[in-house]
Formats: sequence, C-alpha cells, structure tokens
Amino acid sequence: MHDSTTEDLNIGAEIKAFRAAGHALVDQLASYWASLETRDVSPAPGEGGTPGDVLRALPEAPPEQGGEAYDALLGDLDRLITPALLHWQSPRFFGFFPANASFAAILGEFASAGLNVNGMNWATSPAATELETRMLDWFADLLALPERFRSTSEGGGVIQGTASEATLVALCAARARAVDAGVDPASLCVYTSEQAHSSVLKAAMIAGLASGPEDRARVRLIETDADLRMDAGALEHAMRVDVEGGRAPAFVCATLGTTGTEAVDPIPEIAGLLDALGGDAPVRPWLHVDAAYTGAALVCPEHRGLARGVERADSICINPHKWLLVNFDCDLFWVADRAALVRALSVTPEYLRNDASDAGAVIDYRDWQVPLGRRMRALKLWFVARRYGAEGMRAHVRRHVELAKALEARVLADDRFELLASRTTSLVCLGLRAGDNATQRALDELGAGRRVFVSHTRVPSVGGEGSRLVIRIAIGATLTEARHVDELWEELSRASDAALA
Ligand code: PLP
Repeated sequence: MHDSTTEDLNIGAEIKAFRAAGHALVDQLASYWASLETRDVSPAPGEGGTPGDVLRALPEAPPEQGGEAYDALLGDLDRLITPALLHWQSPRFFGFFPANASFAAILGEFASAGLNVNGMNWATSPAATELETRMLDWFADLLALPERFRSTSEGGGVIQGTASEATLVALCAARARAVDAGVDPASLCVYTSEQAHSSVLKAAMIAGLASGPEDRARVRLIETDADLRMDAGALEHAMRVDVEGGRAPAFVCATLGTTGTEAVDPIPEIAGLLDALGGDAPVRPWLHVDAAYTGAALVCPEHRGLARGVERADSICINPHKWLLVNFDCDLFWVADRAALVRALSVTPEYLRNDASDAGAVIDYRDWQVPLGRRMRALKLWFVARRYGAEGMRAHVRRHVELAKALEARVLADDRFELLASRTTSLVCLGLRAGDNATQRALDELGAGRRVFVSHTRVPSVGGEGSRLVIRIAIGATLTEARHVDELWEELSRASDAALA
C-alpha cells in the first residue's frame, strides 16, 4: 500500500502521484455529486450518524511511516467520511440557509489551494490583491450596490471568511471612529434587533463591549414589529435614552434577511434616525447591513427594493457561500470609507514594510480583516462570475424563489398548516395548526426519514405571549428543482399525518 516513503521523497514521483490522484479525486467528487440525487440527506444511525461512529473507525495515533498510497486515502474518504456527512449539496437539503457551491467555484478553490499564495499584502502576490479588488467591484455591480462601496470611490470591498467576521470588523471600525472623535470607549453602545444573528452579540463580546451574551450594559436588542422587522421607534427611543444617560450610540446592525424568517429591517427609517440624532449624539453611529443570505437576491432587479436605504449605510456584507454558487467560505464585505476600516485594523511590523505599501500606492487587505494571512478566495468568485455570468446567477436565484412561491401556495391551501412568517424570497416558515407539539412530532418524523433535511426556529406568537415552533424550509441548494420540492411536500405530508394521528 506504500508507494514512496519520506526518505526517498522524490519530487518527480510526487508530481506524478499528485497528477493521478488529482484526476481520481475529481472523478470521485463528480460521482459524489451525481449520487446526491438518490442518497438520503442525513447519515444513518450506526453508519456515521451516531456519536462516535467516525472516531471509532479512525486510528488513535498518526502513522509513523508516511508514503501511504492516495488510493487508500481516497478509498477511506468514500468509506469512512462521506457516509457520516450531512449532505449540504443534496437537492433535498432545505435546512438553515444553504451552503451553495458550483463546480466553477470548487475549481477556483482548488486553484487557490494549488497555487497557495498568502496575499496578506499587495507585494506578497499582486494578482491576489488586484483580482480581489476587481471581483469586489464586479459583485458590487452584479448586486447594484451604490457607487460609494466601489474601490473607485472612497470605499471598497474585501473578502472575509464569514458574515460574523464582517460584523466584527465593522464594529471595530465604528469603535475607532468614535474614539477618534473623542468619545470615551466605555460609553459606546451597540444596537441590533432581537431577530438579528447571534454574531452581532459575539462581535460585541470580542470587541470588549459585552462580557457575555447576556450582558446588556452596552448592547441593546431592539424589539421587532409584527413582521419581525426592527421597530424603528423602539430603536430611536433606546438611542435617545442612551444619549441622555451620557452614553454614545456607536454601531447599529440592520439585517436584510434575518436568519429566523428572512425579515428585512426598515433600513431607510433606521438611516433617517441616525441622521436625526445628529449633533445630539457624540458621534454618528456606524450603520452596518447584514445581508448574509438575502443579499444574493439583489442580482435580480425585481428584488432590489429590499436594499432601499443601503446607499446610506457605512458597510454591508453578503455571503455568496450561502446562495450565490460560491463554496464555503466567502463573505463579501464593503465599506463606504475604507480609511476608517484600515485605521481600526492596521498594525505594521517592520518585516511587512515594503515600497509599494509605504508609498500608499496599493491595497493591503491584511488591514481590512482580523488575521494577517489570506488565501486567494477571489479565484472562485472569478470562476463563478465568468462561468454563470449575471444571467446565470439571476436564473439560479429566480428558480429558487419560484419554487418557494409554489410551496407557499401549497401551504396556504392546506388546512393542516399555517404560515408563521411572511416569505421574503426563498424561505418558507410554517407550522402545524394543531400546535407546537404536533409540529415537533412532524419535525421528528422528517428527521427520522432522512430523505429531506429541514431545520426549525421559534418566533414570537402573533399578538400574544410565548412563541411558536417553526419549520423552516430554505430553498437554495444548487441542485434543487421542482421534483425535489414535490418530494419534500410528500415527506412533509406523511410526517404531518403521522404527527396528527
Ligand atoms: N447573518 C445572518 C443574517 C445569517 O443568517 C447568518 C447565518 O446563517 C450569519 C450572519 C452568520 O453567517 P457566517 O457563518 O457567515 O458568520
């Protein structure tokens, strides 16, 4: 089983083995994708789906001798790992928000791994920086984002790993801007809605504005209206109370498509409030828009109304790794004032100094993010943009939105179900009219069936106390077509009948 050892490592032989194994791996992954049509979505108990299944199959110690044949590795990938996966690329994956991918993106990722440059500074690989700058401008174009977020203005975009990192760096920029304006860092306050993603709280914790997720001394979770959108009046009240108490509103995170129900906060009203606060507040709060999932829909002109007010935001992020055909990880983050971001995150040790950076002639993306090092994620954006084009991306989003509309109509026409939130694009939120216990039993049945994968959340009860359990059906996997949603509907019907029996 051993075709070479570390002692006789011979680069010629290694390249030959890489070439053969690389072709074999592509074949294997292509077969995996082809198999997704028929595979169950989640792993079977005892065959990867029970805690410890994979651990027990893996040796406790690493091999002393290297040189194991790639055939054995690829065989184990198929035998041990693949069966223990939740198949996020399955056309019957409807959980959370999807983790989209496409072959173009996978090849871009592969190219990035193969070239393996670290584009921390422009000088450490000019193409890495310049391709990224161009791609962020291309995607700003594709999503019709305002001019102020382009590299040709005072702003610009950068690839972050995740939306959580985007929120964190936006908060750091907001904090630096406030401190530069003479505000006491201990007085800074953060605002987001009760429905915002937990990453906003986490960013406040990391940035030192909260000691833990329950610490509300400087973090305000603003209540939401009947549609689960941030209540602008409640935001205004919270900011006024803070200003009167000698605190400084510094950062507002509005969500364009919440994780629970895809609700869209009233961004124009929120931006208007920040303007109205004006000279009463020590500094204008930074407005960040978290459009992690729903932002992808902005490729379609018919959805651009969702982004009203974004032209008044300081920053925005969207995750192509959720719904725009780019494999994980890839978050696009744009700021209107790049100098504010760089001011917050730039530290230059001697060993990173170089003529191009010193002359201010280039972008050094290390100053736009938390880590120093960065791989060349722009390659996968480039591959996807060229392979699909704007038209292909629009068709991808439209297909899912149409499927979600049709599913919503089925739910509305069926007495067993009720919609528990209005649909924004491709997320359908429903429950059983019989109540939460029945909804839970239906979820359990669906999970046990393993044929489709959905996830759940809770939403506040309309006009009452307590909350309702929601079955979330996010239609956004790359391979999902009408027949897969039909299958979901059959499974849901079966599970619900069993729950109601
Ligand atoms: N923001 C929103 C609205 C989300 O829905 C999610 C995840 O689903 C996130 C942020 C976190 O995304 P990430 O994993 O990219 O940090």
